[in-house]
Amino acid sequence: MELEKRENQVPKVEVKRIVDGLGFGEGNISYLERIDQVGPVKLDAVETAINSGSLLVPVDYDPTGQQIDDDGCGDGRVWRRVFHGSTEKFRSLIRPKVFGGGVTMAMAMDVGLGKSDNDNLQSAFSMAINNMNHKGIDFGGHTDRHSEAPNCGCGAIDKAPQIIGNIARYSHEIKQTIESLGVNSDGLNEVLTNFNSFAQSSAEDKSYAGSTVMGEVLKQQKVVKELDGTHNEMFVVLNEVSGHTIDQEKVRQLSDGDIQIFVVDTWRLKDIAERLNDNDTSAVQNQAYLSALVYTLGVAATLTKGDLPVYTVNHLAKPVAA
Ligand SMILES: [Zn+2]
Repeated sequence: MELEKRENQVPKVEVKRIVDGLGFGEGNISYLERIDQVGPVKLDAVETAINSGSLLVPVDYDPTGQQIDDDGCGDGRVWRRVFHGSTEKFRSLIRPKVFGGGVTMAMAMDVGLGKSDNDNLQSAFSMAINNMNHKGIDFGGHTDRHSEAPNCGCGAIDKAPQIIGNIARYSHEIKQTIESLGVNSDGLNEVLTNFNSFAQSSAEDKSYAGSTVMGEVLKQQKVVKELDGTHNEMFVVLNEVSGHTIDQEKVRQLSDGDIQIFVVDTWRLKDIAERLNDNDTSAVQNQAYLSALVYTLGVAATLTKGDLPVYTVNHLAKPVAA
């Protein structure tokens, strides 16, 4: 009954392929380099599933009936183990996804708003953890099976210095992409300028370590998943439908693990932007949201070759009443 009720809540959606590739990026993850190896049958199965909207699933509920508030990363790889603090769990719940988990986006929001005045990335992450705790926003993260210090296994965290450098490098392309998404881009120039100055002033600091960030996250008794295997992401899906996310497991099933997808729940970015800046104006909250989008595109530019097709999933616009 409960399940039936929740399934009925899956809304009607509109899926759009917005670009064949972002067109900028210096990473190794590529769509074009893998299409021959993966073959048309699996690609077709996954693309059909993305387009049908059937990959949309509600975020899980906690025992009190509330949707869970923490999040995870949009990394498409398979999980092997899940930890809640130091306790191993045997089931992976469905959470909203943002690159690096909520704390990474909170860091990006501070940088984009010019609030990270000490130009030190490690302390920017520590400050973000404190801010999330202070505002009562839960968050999660992940490691992977083979990473060792100074890395934790999450590219959005480990490669944060390069990501911020790439945001400065690709600021023109990032601006164009955000404007093409049709979001309110007021204040975007200021956000990009703030990233730029942070990139310059933190460029010489070589002391940053993703493993230190993850150590702090684990100390907060957060849910941290251990991922495994190689990066096989071939698509990026930006989901705007609140309370829902995209089923990455289903994509791996449809393709025998040959295809994974990056998922970013943009509604969760807005949620964090608003709650983290609840004492500020809606203009500031929107700039925080833009900062998260900027960092998200910086992650894509750092991890991928910029040739992964990008889809958006939105609520189907309601027909105008006659
Ligand atoms: Zn990650």
